[in-house]
Amino acid sequence: MRSVSEVRSQVLDTIRSLPAEPVRFQDAVGRILAEPVMATHDVPSFANSAMDGFAVRASDVSGPGALLTILEDVAAGQVSTVAVGPGEATRIMTGAPMPEGADTVVRVEDTEEDDGKVRILTSTDLGTSVRPPGGDVTAGATVFQAGTRLSAAHVGVLATIGVVEPVVARRPRVAVMSTGDELVPPETGELGPGLIRDSNRPMLLALLLEAGAETIDLGRVPDDADSLRAALGQAAAEADVIVTSGGVSMGEYDVTKAVLRDEASVEFYPVAMKPGKPQGFGTIGGTPFFGLPGNPVSVLVSFEQFVRPALLAMQGGAALLRPRVTGIAGEDFESDPEKEEFIRVRFIDAAVPPTVAQTGGSGSHVLSGAADADAFAVFGVDVSDVRKGEAVVLELFRSVETRGLYDE
Ligand code: AMP
Ligand code: MG
Repeated sequence: MRSVSEVRSQVLDTIRSLPAEPVRFQDAVGRILAEPVMATHDVPSFANSAMDGFAVRASDVSGPGALLTILEDVAAGQVSTVAVGPGEATRIMTGAPMPEGADTVVRVEDTEEDDGKVRILTSTDLGTSVRPPGGDVTAGATVFQAGTRLSAAHVGVLATIGVVEPVVARRPRVAVMSTGDELVPPETGELGPGLIRDSNRPMLLALLLEAGAETIDLGRVPDDADSLRAALGQAAAEADVIVTSGGVSMGEYDVTKAVLRDEASVEFYPVAMKPGKPQGFGTIGGTPFFGLPGNPVSVLVSFEQFVRPALLAMQGGAALLRPRVTGIAGEDFESDPEKEEFIRVRFIDAAVPPTVAQTGGSGSHVLSGAADADAFAVFGVDVSDVRKGEAVVLELFRSVETRGLYDE
């Protein structure tokens, strides 16, 4: 059996980078920078007050009790008209530029006003409550490297420095289909005998959106070779990546495998992972193809381990994998020593480190357990049991990726 990391390396060797495009900064969240972002000016661009208070000269307030003459008021957006000299102070609001001559701000709570004068109750060090120019971003600096995935805070910084059209990787277009004669649309009211609602496709569409992809929903395909061939042909023509679920294991009706078995560029193989052992991967007409298994938890875990890193890599992402932290087993765990296991767990004590317990049992059909989970507890090959109180590796599959390929 191939290991998870071997398969992931093979996948990443196969995929190609997507072209870059400018995007309005409002639409940039979740996208990956294709070019570094530089700052053309300091942020803040002028020294300003961090507090509502009085702008003073530090030499006047080295001890408590100074009585200073108030010159004027300066609010955010205004500019002072007179310099602050010895024995003088200007009333200043948060964000207002420092008046000439002043180098320190005393917050209003530490003052008392009396008839045009202000008494400074505390001694205050030089530079207190002053935000220096460039304290956030320095002119000429690379603010964000290419490969950065943009969060809401990144979008805010882009706005701050006036970069309204960052250049990002195009979104990968991903065609999704589910296979299986048993599948009916999720909208179906009454289920006929032996039928189930198709849950993999909606889940995959949601996972893809979160990974920054555009989706092409090719619907449900019956376990019929001609139908699947037609759908795959359309997918290969329209998409950058194809993802299917179901039909890749050892059964008589495993249509995905049957249709693609003779395709030289696609392989089906067992991976030393649980859930998600049977996998198909390769290219169809040059388009990367992921033949994920049918069981919903296997779909989630194999999407996380293979598809998502591939989509981020196609966009030039510097980080491809979710963060891992150490937690504590809140109960005894068993793991198949032949496979890397991804057991769905939740935090039963969210202290640091968190203590975890399994959700929903080990069945790869128990998707509700995955929905309840905060993390995967990852047990490597050769691990057969972990006792209550021992350390466990937790993969935070709901957090933004932080790890490169070699930080495993
Ligand atoms: P398969 O690999 O096609 O044999 O499917 C394995 C298991 O996953 C079977 O119990 C299927 O009914 C189930 N399954 C396959 N596709 C889906 C789907 N799209 N939604 C929910 N369950 C599925
Ligand atoms: Mg099937």
